[in-house]
Amino acid sequence: MSLFENTAIAFKLKSNNELRKAHALFKAVDKNWLTNLGAWSLPWAIHIPGVKSLMKATVFAQFCGGETRKESLQTVEQIYGQNVKSILDYSVEGKESEEDYERCFNEIMAIIDIAEGNPMIPFVVFKPTGFGNIDIYTKVSAGDKLSPNEEKQWQNIQRRFKAVCEKGHTKDVTIMIDAEESWMQDAVDDLVVEMMQLYNQKRCVVVNTLQMYRHDRLTYLKTQAKLAKEEGYYIGFKVVRGAYMEKERERAKEKGYPSPIQPDKASTDRDYNRAVLFIAENKERISLFAGTHNEQSCKILMDYIGKNDLDKDDNQLWFGQLLGMSDNISFVLADLGYNVAKYVPYGPVRDVMPYLIRRAQENTSVAGQSSRELDLIEKELKRRKLEN
Ligand SMILES: Cc1cc2nc3c(=O)[nH]c(=O)nc-3n(C[C@H](O)[C@H](O)[C@H](O)COP(=O)(O)OP(=O)(O)OC[C@H]3O[C@@H](n4cnc5c(N)ncnc54)[C@H](O)[C@@H]3O)c2cc1C
Repeated sequence: MSLFENTAIAFKLKSNNELRKAHALFKAVDKNWLTNLGAWSLPWAIHIPGVKSLMKATVFAQFCGGETRKESLQTVEQIYGQNVKSILDYSVEGKESEEDYERCFNEIMAIIDIAEGNPMIPFVVFKPTGFGNIDIYTKVSAGDKLSPNEEKQWQNIQRRFKAVCEKGHTKDVTIMIDAEESWMQDAVDDLVVEMMQLYNQKRCVVVNTLQMYRHDRLTYLKTQAKLAKEEGYYIGFKVVRGAYMEKERERAKEKGYPSPIQPDKASTDRDYNRAVLFIAENKERISLFAGTHNEQSCKILMDYIGKNDLDKDDNQLWFGQLLGMSDNISFVLADLGYNVAKYVPYGPVRDVMPYLIRRAQENTSVAGQSSRELDLIEKELKRRKLEN
């Protein structure tokens, strides 16, 4: 049995009933047509009586910690019992008023208070579009002139970034910033570099995200490493492959610019693994959070740690997965003593719909092959001698 096939460890926290429920769910999302129908109809169907409760008992229960911070803390404690840490992820998306952005900002500030000195919550994360409109980031990225009203919105975004990073610095809590669409990323990157220069003088408090499905990110990483070395501050990266590939390719085609995405999966994998190894080799100055469900990439980092006689729980090297996915990786790595943290998304059921739809789409069958999650659950059902 290969390392990540130990379903007894992976699903230790799931009762027989919960496992059966997870099986029914992954069996349903495995069907492309059903997931597509759900993705199309849910934004309006969620208002039909009963649909919200159904969602809460199924997809939401699998992928989210709860509707509130407080509800999610139960999940945080539960997985901590298996040595897996949590990253509370306020997953409300698609809100676009200044009040909504301020609410999100206040939520992140409150999570920093919970994370302070709390070994269960080693990182606090936010999405740039939680703090401001994508159009503002896009215009700033393109160097376009902002109207007075847009300038005000940009000032608010900068204020929110700064307050969160400053609080992280004061309370010794690491702040991680998600990456979204490439066309808004330059504005985010510049802001994050500014935050790193301010707050990463003694250690890496502010962590950016690299999406390795972009063909320019390995070069970006190396440029940032050089700059940090020259100027004497610390940097850190969550390394992911990237979640918006179709959208990126479509926009590039529509607007007639070269796609920022790698030509094929193998190129993304190659750059992902190179980035992980480059950071591990430079861990004195760069912190690594390998956010992936790819077993091969996890093995590459494990091998590096082993070959170089590093501590498995070296605080510069972290593995990360999403709640409800790849428990076979998270719990097995944690059981072996590596640093592992899972995103624990939360928010009102109706507001986390875009997040849940992305997760369902990720788990549909590919080329007629059922998803890896479904295979693992079926293996565990068999091991427990439960009917499918
Ligand atoms: C803890 C955590 C945090 C995350 N944070 C972010 C974030 O901030 N921003 C973000 O965008 N995503 C984020 N993600 C999502 C992440 O990008 C997806 O989980 C990831 O795309 C799935 O890739 P994988 O590494 O698990 O491996 P795999 O399942 O092996 O890889 C799938 C990925 O490979 C890439 N790919 C697939 N086909 C091709 C192709 N033909 N050409 C080029 N590339 C291809 C795509 O990125 C695709 O998603 C996060 C994931 C985790 C676990």
